[in-house]
Amino acid sequence: MADQNADVLLLEKGCDIRARGCPARRTGRCVHCDPCDITCGWGGAGAFSDGKLTLSPEVGGWLEDYVGRETLEGLIADADAVYRRYGAPERLFGDNDEDVSEWRLRALRQGLKLVASPIRHMGTERCTEVLTRMRDALEGRVQVLTDTLVDSLLVAGEGNGSEGRRVTGVRTADGDEFRAAAVVVAPGREGAGWFLAEARRLQIPVANNAVDIGVRVEVPAVVLEEVTAQLYEPKLLYTSRTFEDQVRTFCMNPRGEVSKENYGDVVTVNGHSYSDPSRQTLFTNFALLVSTRFTEPFDEPIIYGKSIARLANVLGEDIIVQRLGDLRDGRRSTKQRLERGVVRPTLRDATPGDLSFVMPYRHLSDIVEMLDAMDKLLPGVAGRDTLLYGVEVKFYSSRPLLDRGLQTPVKGLYSIGDGAGVTRGVIQASASGLIAARSILANGNGRAPAEQASPLPYAGGVD
Ligand SMILES: Cc1cc2nc3c(=O)[nH]c(=O)nc-3n(C[C@H](O)[C@H](O)[C@H](O)COP(=O)(O)OP(=O)(O)OC[C@H]3O[C@@H](n4cnc5c(N)ncnc54)[C@H](O)[C@@H]3O)c2cc1C
Repeated sequence: MADQNADVLLLEKGCDIRARGCPARRTGRCVHCDPCDITCGWGGAGAFSDGKLTLSPEVGGWLEDYVGRETLEGLIADADAVYRRYGAPERLFGDNDEDVSEWRLRALRQGLKLVASPIRHMGTERCTEVLTRMRDALEGRVQVLTDTLVDSLLVAGEGNGSEGRRVTGVRTADGDEFRAAAVVVAPGREGAGWFLAEARRLQIPVANNAVDIGVRVEVPAVVLEEVTAQLYEPKLLYTSRTFEDQVRTFCMNPRGEVSKENYGDVVTVNGHSYSDPSRQTLFTNFALLVSTRFTEPFDEPIIYGKSIARLANVLGEDIIVQRLGDLRDGRRSTKQRLERGVVRPTLRDATPGDLSFVMPYRHLSDIVEMLDAMDKLLPGVAGRDTLLYGVEVKFYSSRPLLDRGLQTPVKGLYSIGDGAGVTRGVIQASASGLIAARSILANGNGRAPAEQASPLPYAGGVD
């Protein structure tokens, strides 16, 4: 039982970091753990991530809208320093201006825009080590309760503003109540649906974000080596000719593996890579995503994205993999056709199939157009044997109304990270924690009135 008077209490529905382990990483087969060890547990979704720290305010979230660019740059540097203190490598990729300018020009010639940013790459195994050291450093200073699902937020009073409602604590699924003057909600993408329901129950205004829908692409590592060796992750943007949609690359994993993300009701695809050369593969994977903003009368982008992913789950027993050549020829991929190709699927239990039965024409056409543009920059990207895994969906949680300190209109109730729809990457999620912590300290444990609040709708961006 937790100390009811603990200064800082951290409640986590998954297990502690040392107990986390995804069976699919050993056996290649997802057994649908509940909760999923990839996305839940101490350390959050970042624990088994590729650990790419993207050190630019332009990438990975929208905190600039709240704190301004200069402050955000400082916060990113502070968060980065913490990762380095706990063992993140000193080496930076993409910080050589000459290389970046050269790639930017080459990309422009093919109708692609390059968004460059310095990247520190921890790699999946080092990412877990760094987080484990952080966990150990908190021992005795912060109380941690794992395997504890927060069911509801406790609020007293009525109305908004300084005389209005204030948070009083949380109730867990087991019925335990913990009292607190300040509560920071950081449920990630996995807990975003729960938080949205809570925000609605508490009548906190929320604005919908877009959903990004696409595929994970896998190619021979040599095809991308020239650019990944210099920039690690080239973030490329493309406006499709047919639909004028924005398509972008996301989360490139040189010599990595394709993996799954299990959200309980839906399984999507992702990727990661190890920094240890002995665990690296001969293939590089990255996502191609199409930002999809929904229009009236249906305005539930998350439900839309999940419906498409679920269709792939139904037809493919989770994830479908198809060769680009088969997609172009209008036929499904089969085990035999995949075996004839030069790219071996690193997600071993993906089902060979036909993505055109799953993805809307609009999204597939956008993706193929972008692959063709990329092929001119990096020959081989749109080869016959290039693999497409579907469906990759990035849910950007609805954004509650927040002030500059990420406090909701309920006094003392803060909301940060991907689950609050204000970030979409490790570094900005970490920076958002710094904002809330500093705001709580400045406000005297959440007892001061909220600053001016502004609802900030989705405004595009890169991750
Ligand atoms: C495979 C993979 C690879 C990735 N690679 C990268 C990368 O290389 N670089 C990058 O910048 N980003 C990457 N990301 C994204 C990154 O992990 C997230 O942006 C980041 O972890 C968000 O942090 P967060 O604190 O907002 O939420 P999370 O890290 O998702 O943490 C939220 C936590 O809250 C817990 N929780 C949710 N609801 C409740 C509840 N009701 N009660 C109790 N606990 C709850 C969850 O169990 C979870 O542990 C990757 C993600 C995945 C899945």
